[in-house]
Amino acid sequence: MDSVHAEIAATIQWNAAGEPKISAIAIVGFRFWPIENRKAVTTPCGRCRQWLYEAIVRSNSHPKIICANGELSKLEIFEMKELLPDAFSLEAALYENWYKKMRPKLQSM
Ligand SMILES: [Zn+2]
Repeated sequence: MDSVHAEIAATIQWNAAGEPKISAIAIVGFRFWPIENRKAVTTPCGRCRQWLYEAIVRSNSHPKIICANGELSKLEIFEMKELLPDAFSLEAALYENWYKKMRPKLQSM
């Protein structure tokens, strides 16, 4: 089931504000599964990691990603590259667009 995660909603607000440079992003939440990990810190899901990565690149920021559990009894601080070391990059997307435009010309050579 799809849903709008808090990271997406917050990033849309950030985008609407012109994506100013920021110094930190806080992720706080309770884990519901598995039950023995209820007190573990909550980290962004895979989709939100890529979404956050792209917003961070656009803003030219290097924010700390502060992840906490719902009780605020544990927190861990990450760099974006630690949470998503092989992010799909905007540079790669630009290259892909260039390649699609050039491919017919390259094939006709
Ligand atoms: Zn998410």
